[in-house]
Amino acid sequence: MSLLVKNVLHCFENKLVDVFVENGKINEIGSEIKKEADKVIYGKEKILYPAFSNMHTHAAMTLLRGYADDLPLMVWLQEKIWPLESKMTEEDIYIGTKLACLEMIKTGTTLFTDMYWYVDAAYQAVSELNIRAMLSAVMIDMFDKKRQKSNEKRTIDWFDKYHNKSEKIKMILGPHAVYTVSEEGLKFAVEFAKEKDTWLNIHLSETLKEVENCLKQTGKRPPEYLDSLGFLHDKTMCAHCVWFNLDEIKLFAKRNTVAIHSPVSNMKLAVGGVMPREKMKRAGVRIMLGTDGAASNNNLDMVEEMKIASLLQKWSNNSSNEPSAAEVLSSATAGFEINGLKVGKLQVGDNADFILVNRHPVMTPLNNPVSNLVYAGNGALVDTTVCAGNVLMENSYVEGEEQIMSDAIKTIEKLLMRQ
Ligand SMILES: [Zn+2]
Repeated sequence: MSLLVKNVLHCFENKLVDVFVENGKINEIGSEIKKEADKVIYGKEKILYPAFSNMHTHAAMTLLRGYADDLPLMVWLQEKIWPLESKMTEEDIYIGTKLACLEMIKTGTTLFTDMYWYVDAAYQAVSELNIRAMLSAVMIDMFDKKRQKSNEKRTIDWFDKYHNKSEKIKMILGPHAVYTVSEEGLKFAVEFAKEKDTWLNIHLSETLKEVENCLKQTGKRPPEYLDSLGFLHDKTMCAHCVWFNLDEIKLFAKRNTVAIHSPVSNMKLAVGGVMPREKMKRAGVRIMLGTDGAASNNNLDMVEEMKIASLLQKWSNNSSNEPSAAEVLSSATAGFEINGLKVGKLQVGDNADFILVNRHPVMTPLNNPVSNLVYAGNGALVDTTVCAGNVLMENSYVEGEEQIMSDAIKTIEKLLMRQ
C-alpha cells in the first residue's frame, strides 16, 4: 500500500512538502513528488506533525470518564473506581478499549501503553482499530498468595497466546505498584519479563503515603526496594515518579529506566508533588509522557498533556525556559523508539506514523508550528491520522465511530445498573 500526501506544511522544516509513503515507511519527502500512489491526500492548509505515543494509560477506563471526580485519591480509588471496576466484564473492557483507541486516533496517538484487566478483550479491540500498543495485564495480589498465583497463571496464558504474534501489539508485564503487589509477585514479573525479553510497567512513588508505607514495610523507599529485586533496568517504565529524591534520580539514570510524566492525573488527584522532570533530564533519565486513565485525566489528548507538562514544570521550577515546546513534543513521541520505530522527526526512512492538523484560528498565524501546536492547539484539531502507513482517520472521521460511541454509552449504563 502506498500513500502520497500533497502539499502539507512540515512542522519542523516550516515549508510545504509532498510525502510519499510505501510499506509503512516515509519513502520520500520533496517539493513535487510525481509518483503514483494507491491513495492521495491533499494536505493544503494542513500541518504535518509526528503521531504521539501515550506511554501510560488504562484504556478501558474511558468508560469511567466523569464517573467519580473531585474526590481524595484513596476515596476515589477505594470507594468509587475499584468497586465499579470489579463489576466490569470482558465485554465492557472490549468496548471501553475501543472507545479509548477511537479517542486516541481522533487526537493523533498511534501507540499507547496499557495496563488493565482482560488482555484478550484489549488485544481484540486494539487489533480492530489497527493501532499500536504495549499491553500489560495488570497484576494486583494485595499480598495474597492465591491471587498472586492466579496472576502468574493468567499472565503466562496471555503470553502464550499473544507474545510476538503481532507487529503492532507487544505484550509487557504490569505489576500495579509496590502497595498492591507482593514481593513474590514483583519477583515473578522481573523473571518472566527477562525470560520473554519484554518490558515491565509499574506505578511508582505517586504519593508520599506510598513512600512512607513502603519504608515501614520494607525498610526501603519504593525505588530502592524495586532495585533490590532487580526490577529497575533499561526495559522498565515507571509511571508518576513524583516523590523522588536525588539518589533516586541518579539510580534511574544509572539503570537507564524510563520515567513517565502524567501531569494532568497528578494534578487532578492532588498527589502533593511534581515529578522532578528537569532534575531527571539533567541526570540523563529517559522521560516520556502519558495521560493516565480517563478516570483521572479525563481525556487521552496528548496535545493537552504536552501543554500542561510544560506549564506545570515551568511553574514548579520558576523557570519559563524549560521544558520547551520541542522538548515536550519529543517526550510525547519517545515511546516509538523503545518499540524499534523511528517517528518523532518526520524524515525519510522513518515509520509512517504521522498526523495532519487543521488550520484553525488557534493555529493562525503559524509563527512556530511546534510551539503553536503545544501551546495553542488541542487534539480535536487533528484531521488525518496515519499509523504504519495506514490512514486511520481522514477529514476527522474514523469509520464506525458512531457505533463505538453508542456501544460505550449502552455499556456504561448497564455497568452502573449492575452496581
Ligand atoms: Zn495509572
